[in-house]
This record gives sequence, C-alpha cells and structure tokens, in this order.
Amino acid sequence: MKIVRADTMGFCAGVRRAVMIADKALSENKSGQVYTFGPLIHNPEALKKFEERGLKVLGEDDISALKTEDTVVVRAHGVAPEVMEKLEKTGATILNGTCPIVQVNQIKCANFAREGVQIFFTGDKDHGEVIGIEGAGRKAAFEAGTEYNFNLIKNLQEAENLVSSIDTSRPVSLFSQTTFSIKVFDEISSYLKEKLPEIEIVKSICPATHERQESLVELCKKVEGVIVIGGKNSANTNRLFATAQRLCKKATLIENAEEIPQEFFELEKVGLTAGASTPDDVIEEVEKKLLSKKN
Ligand code: SF4
Repeated sequence: MKIVRADTMGFCAGVRRAVMIADKALSENKSGQVYTFGPLIHNPEALKKFEERGLKVLGEDDISALKTEDTVVVRAHGVAPEVMEKLEKTGATILNGTCPIVQVNQIKCANFAREGVQIFFTGDKDHGEVIGIEGAGRKAAFEAGTEYNFNLIKNLQEAENLVSSIDTSRPVSLFSQTTFSIKVFDEISSYLKEKLPEIEIVKSICPATHERQESLVELCKKVEGVIVIGGKNSANTNRLFATAQRLCKKATLIENAEEIPQEFFELEKVGLTAGASTPDDVIEEVEKKLLSKKN
C-alpha cells in the first residue's frame, strides 16, 4: 500500500504554539496544578494524553480557587479581557497561548469599537475565539464611552435580517472568526457591500484552514480513498471530511488508528489528511497501522 499525505495537514501554527506552551508548563511544573482555560484543542486523543500527564481544564467558575503556585495556559482561541484580568488577579502563573492571528482580531475589534464602528462579525455563537474577540470590543467601547454594536452572523440570511437595523450615518465594518468558511464570508461580504457601499471589509480568515482544504483537493486526485484524522467535535476537521466525501470515492473520519475501517486496508493508494488540532503522533500511528496491513 502507498500512503500519500496531503501537502499541508495537522497542527496549524497557533495550535502547535499553544500545545508547546502546555507541554513545557507540564514538564517544568514542580508543586502546583497546571490548567488550560477550556479544552486546549478540539481533539479527544490529544486531550486524553495531556490529562494523563496531569493537565486539568479550568472553567470560569473555578478561577477563584486558583492558588499562586498554579499555572494556567490560555489556549489558542484566546479569552475575553475580563477573564484575563480575573486570572491575573489570582497570582497564579498565566501563560498566554492565544494565537497571534487571533490577537490581531481582538485588537481590530477593540479599535472598531473605540471608534464607534458598527460591526458585522461572521462566526459561531459560543465559540471561545468569538467570545474573546467580542469581549475585547466590549471593553474598548466601555472605556471609550462609545455605543457597542456587535452583530454576530453565521450566514447570509442572518445578514439580511440585520441589515435594516444598521445606522447608515455611522461607519460599518465586516470581519470574521479566523476559521470561518471563506465561501460563506464572500457571499455575506458581496451582499453587505451592495447594501452598505461604505462598509469596511476586513478579510481576517486564517489561511491555515484554507491551505488544508486546498491540499486535500489535490490529494483526492491522487488516491483511491482519503482518511481524515481529527476530533469529531472539530469544525475544521468536519469541513475536511465533507470535502473528502465530495471529491473521493471513499472517505472516512477517524480519531485514532483503532478506527480505520477495514476497507481502507484493501486499497493500493490511501490519502491522509488531518485537522488543525490533530497531533503528529496520532497521524503517525494511523500511517503505521495502515502500513502494517492489519486491523
Ligand atoms: S487556525 Fe489560524 S488563527 Fe486559528 S489557531 Fe490556527 S493559526 Fe491561529
């Protein structure tokens, strides 16, 4: 069997950085407890391994119980400024693993809010990154004494429903969660541009997601079946799986080597790709198992 890996797959730079920070914190920890604020990544396999090494997940309600000898790693999605302030006040060591690209979006939102710009933001409700970015804008608006107008939308329909509530005498902007679909963003952006010609459109979708999709499209041309490796709760992994199902005769989504379907062991050429929060060792285990030709 020949295994072909997608040119770009697995950890994105932001997740790799946050994982390295957590890994170092665990290795160097002496007496306290190491936490991440929310699950470090959307990958049950990787989370299980970190848990075995002593990493615990901290929720907002647990912040007051932190001790000064504890360490908290802020994950790649980032947190809202008020959460960061609460964490810092505890005296615990706070390691900021917020992806630099997400930080840029937090700053952008704060700048818009400070200037009183009405914001359309494409993203997923309740996603950690969105909560952090919305919070950065809220804080900036409060400090500047401006009216905060943040409109979270996830599709064209929602943009259509909200457009009439926009005050056309004030500036308007559109930007996005870093992992949002480029296709849906472009649809919304064309619509809003037509309705609000003065709108400032900022393309803030991270290239990492797009690059994994593009590489998968190429991969599908070369193989008989594609295995997508990643958390079934990970949005970017599920989008990869949807593309693989569309472009390849056989496609499967697995979280670990144990889940490889039997039919993939019979193929001559198998393609591999993985979501942005899939660790290298999980990918390697899948490859090893396929090459062993046993399940
Ligand atoms: S997808 Fe992009 S923005 Fe999000 S964590 Fe990864 S590198 Fe950062």
